[in-house]
Amino acid sequence: MKLESKVKQTLKKIKLSKKEKIIVALSGGKDSSVVAYLMKKFGYNIDGFHIDLKIGKYSDDCLKAVKELCNSLGIKLHIYDMKKETGAGMCYLRSAVQSKKNLKNCAICGVVKKWILNKEVRKLKADKIATGHHLDDEAQTFLLNILKGSPELSANSGAVSKNSPDKKFIPRIKPLFHVPEKEIKKYSIEKKLPVNYAKCPCAIDSYRIQVRKFMNTLSDKEKENIIKNSEKILKKLNKKVSDVNYCEICGEPSRKKICKKCELMGIANY
Ligand code: AMP
Ligand code: ZN
Repeated sequence: MKLESKVKQTLKKIKLSKKEKIIVALSGGKDSSVVAYLMKKFGYNIDGFHIDLKIGKYSDDCLKAVKELCNSLGIKLHIYDMKKETGAGMCYLRSAVQSKKNLKNCAICGVVKKWILNKEVRKLKADKIATGHHLDDEAQTFLLNILKGSPELSANSGAVSKNSPDKKFIPRIKPLFHVPEKEIKKYSIEKKLPVNYAKCPCAIDSYRIQVRKFMNTLSDKEKENIIKNSEKILKKLNKKVSDVNYCEICGEPSRKKICKKCELMGIANY
């Protein structure tokens, strides 16, 4: 099946309505750019949202690509400047955490990005957040969770988040859930989308890179099977999707008493 048909089918399956306000989380990379391009093409009501992480030239190039994309698609772009909003760019924040605790770059950045996205998109009164996660990402994450001994961490994953509805939690959708990464890259080149193809200079999560190398030896069918089997395994584990509570410090949705972002800020003494 062609990439466009796969995405259409995924959006149909999750029953996304064209009346809903969707915010596409745009990193400046190929995946989220393709999401915005296709959702606009299919007639969905979208705006873009970019977090300027202030990681030097890499971030400047991402911001430039995102602005160009939104201009050419004729969609509104919301920009969140990390330094202005929080007083520090991602690099500073990460070093502050890492001086106290040995945590991976991507783990820290991922937690902070998720927290910002949910909070800011809620302010914009949007119905859902769309991200560029694709088949390879999802299969990798599931394998990583198994290797870490916690397959249940994948319980919420899917083309649409599975949390029970909550006024503070904005559901997330992944239109590229069934699309392999190499198809997305090819498509973004074909459509000449303004994309920053550079990798984030801080992405040195060696465990994920090893899993990615292994995954690259698999066919797309095998990757799709990993996703299918993950659903079977999770059913057998009978893991219930956990309820949403609120963080005692920031009031944002959290599974534990203190959310992951506030836990990190606590470690960093920030
Ligand atoms: P990553 O965690 O970097 O693999 O990114 C996964 C998805 O998160 C991307 O496809 C985007 O939808 C979103 N995302 C990542 N970085 C940013 C950013 N700086 N601003 C907005 N959304 C982002
Ligand atoms: Zn918190």
